[in-house]
Amino acid sequence: MLIGHQPKEFLLAVEALTVSFDGFKAVNGLSFYVDENEIRVIIGPNGAGKTTVLDLICGKTKATSGSIQFRGKELTRMKENEIVKTGVGRKFQNPSIYDDLTVFENLEISYPRGRSVFGALTFTRDAAVRDRVHEVAEMIFLKDRLNVNADLLSHGQKQWLEIGMLLIQDPDLLMLDEPVAGMSVSERAKTAELLNRIIKNRSVLVIEHDMKFVEDIAHKVTVLHQGQILSEGTMEKVKNDPKVVEVYLGH
Ligand code: ADP
Ligand code: MG
Repeated sequence: MLIGHQPKEFLLAVEALTVSFDGFKAVNGLSFYVDENEIRVIIGPNGAGKTTVLDLICGKTKATSGSIQFRGKELTRMKENEIVKTGVGRKFQNPSIYDDLTVFENLEISYPRGRSVFGALTFTRDAAVRDRVHEVAEMIFLKDRLNVNADLLSHGQKQWLEIGMLLIQDPDLLMLDEPVAGMSVSERAKTAELLNRIIKNRSVLVIEHDMKFVEDIAHKVTVLHQGQILSEGTMEKVKNDPKVVEVYLGH
């Protein structure tokens, strides 16, 4: 299947991936490869299949055919919770935070269970959780909001909190579906800064429409159209590709 590639080189290798909904191929023979420590952005017109690609990777939707290898493990045969445990975190378009809990509590309940050494004293674990919550709160610009109820946060802060709830689980691949939609210009810039900082230890797969934001974060861009790759490469290459201008950027 892999032609000219060693599978171990990539964090994520998607190959010949297809999903058919009643005969309609929302994703059609798609192949792409994401490196360690890479920020990849998927762009493309509405209905191109972008969200469906994330659904397939996180196991929410089952592939009709093809393969998704993550660190050499075949994700298409795994359940959603097993995929999370393997190190894939996914943020949906609408934030799924607990409005009636504080920022601290939202982060605390997202801390993975059973990670501490067996038999460790409760207070040792509590201290580890508290330290990690503070560390993540700082990363997501909410260290001064730890005791605030989540429903009082701005739209942008809610998006950051949800990113924090994924970060606290320390995923190797973080997937975000339109994370800056509805954000202010300054919130968008801070989100770009956040993503550029967190890839020290992981890769990020982002769907986004905001071209300024894409330019600020993307190492490589994959342009999807009708479930297939229209163009792929640096932002510079992709935005000057006549096919991309015709079906997407020109509108
Ligand atoms: P994008 O995120 O690029 O806007 P989507 O991945 O949401 O596009 O959708 C791609 C196409 O697949 C659309 O035509 C959509 O209606 C269709 N689709 C997505 N999910 C399903 C589903 N579960 N059942 C049937 N059709 C679906
Ligand atoms: Mg979508």
